[in-house]
Amino acid sequence: MSDFLVSARKYRPKTFDRVIGQDAISLTLKSAIKQNQLAQSFLFCGPRGVGKTSLARILAKTVNCENIDAEINACDKCVSCKSFNENSSFNVHELDAASNNSVDDIRNLVDQVRFAPQVGKFNIYIIDEVHMLSQSAFNAFLKTLEEPPSHAKFILATTEKHKIIPTILSRCQIFDFKRVSNEDIVKNLKYVADNENVSVEDDALFLIAEKSDGAMRDSLSLFDRLVSVSDDKLLYNHVIDHLNILDYDYYFKITNQLILNDISSLIVTFDEIINNGFDGQNFINGLSDHLRNLLLCQDEQTVSLLSKNESLKQRYLDQAKKTEAKLLVRALKLTNECDLQYKLSNNKRLLVEICLMQVSSIGHEDDVKKKDKKFIVSNPLNNNKKVDVVNKDNKSHEDVNTYKSEKKIDETPNEQTVDKHEGVDDLENNIRAKTISILDSLNQEKNKNESLEKIIALRSDDFSQEIFYEKWKKMIESFKENEKSNLALALGINKPVLLDDFKIEIELSNSSQVELINQEKQDILIFLKNELNNDLIDLNTKVAELKKDNTPYTNSDKYKRMYEDNKYLAKLGQKLGLDPDY
Ligand SMILES: [Zn+2]
Repeated sequence: MSDFLVSARKYRPKTFDRVIGQDAISLTLKSAIKQNQLAQSFLFCGPRGVGKTSLARILAKTVNCENIDAEINACDKCVSCKSFNENSSFNVHELDAASNNSVDDIRNLVDQVRFAPQVGKFNIYIIDEVHMLSQSAFNAFLKTLEEPPSHAKFILATTEKHKIIPTILSRCQIFDFKRVSNEDIVKNLKYVADNENVSVEDDALFLIAEKSDGAMRDSLSLFDRLVSVSDDKLLYNHVIDHLNILDYDYYFKITNQLILNDISSLIVTFDEIINNGFDGQNFINGLSDHLRNLLLCQDEQTVSLLSKNESLKQRYLDQAKKTEAKLLVRALKLTNECDLQYKLSNNKRLLVEICLMQVSSIGHEDDVKKKDKKFIVSNPLNNNKKVDVVNKDNKSHEDVNTYKSEKKIDETPNEQTVDKHEGVDDLENNIRAKTISILDSLNQEKNKNESLEKIIALRSDDFSQEIFYEKWKKMIESFKENEKSNLALALGINKPVLLDDFKIEIELSNSSQVELINQEKQDILIFLKNELNNDLIDLNTKVAELKKDNTPYTNSDKYKRMYEDNKYLAKLGQKLGLDPDY
């Protein structure tokens, strides 16, 4: 790239047809010029870098050209065109409202409006970022906009249409500019690359297009930046390195592991990604994009929204076949939650890992249910029938229970720590079970030295009863403050009991309280885990047994109660020879 001139300027479109991605607007303006029905004021709205100012300038130049051709292109030969090309035209006045937004700036401009142009037909006033004008500047401008002289035309441009007051909106012909599609950006970049003798890989250009988010100007700046450091060759790997983009391959790989519920590989792959210097949140966002793309592939109507090059599109379509829309939606919900929680989390890495495990469990919940059923069979309270069958083998209830329980533990030795009490949801169980078993196998792999905690950084601080009760009170207060008074009330009724292995048990008065607490269990656990720096904490609820009702009803009951409670009454009874049992 000799004689370096930034591409965004060098390749700024000079005719309507060269404005990329805004065909409808170009067409409308061209036909208005042709039919001589041009509005007096225009409002160009849309994101940055999509061609608003370029199109405003083309319009300004074209309407002043003396020999417009049949295709509505300016001739580039007349006096007006020449002065325009040399940036010395007196017909075009540009004001950047971002930096010149005072009343005086606008008054200067308004003062010029009444003078008719010396050359050409129109004076064109282009006001960029018009939403930045101060309120008083807006007011000063309004009068002119209401009754402009016929030789004046106004083109207002803004990235924030919602900030434009209705009185302005109603006086302008409004054009909404679209983001430029990735395909169009790639096409244009290719055109530039050909002209600059830069050899490019399509994939590299697609990455630039994606990174530019529909803004042509940004894509050209990025292109310049990358070409300047890459010896006139733009390769995919090169772009990935320089833009710090995670390779698509990683997302395909991770997604395959998610589909297979292969948690150990997931954790290892994520570790690799982190070690390559990528940020967890970027990764999660990238994964969300990837899942969204797979979702788009699920339906013929949406597949056209997938803006990728052909070979990549095929890879998405292939992977999409292995998934289902409803599962992808659930996965997206989880990745989105992870993204929202990321900033607040103390252990960001764990947060992402948990998210991956949750996503990976989607669609595998049935596996857990089968396991749970096995357990229920072993509990005589839950299923007497089965126990009776086994009972024929001359075993007592208790024996059967123990026997079955042991057997169960034998079958799945890694699940001993998994609590099977009611109310723990299957997913959570699955994740915990998976985590622990996966950690075990990882431990074996890594020669036993790395503890569970280290690999997924589980917090496991010890704490005293006193500290626990203190935090419990703090939690109740916090729920009260957050307008969860019912929950605070339920949690405050009985003192919780801290059992072994950081299990907490709380007795509640009735089943609706149990239900309430189970609903909010996630929040309760998050609070306690964070306050006590311990991820092993778990909460169990149970309904308190009804105490025996001792209220005395009959007269003799009442007398007996009085007699028991009051020793003087007892003495009086003795003196009078009364028998309390009478
Ligand atoms: Zn001309």
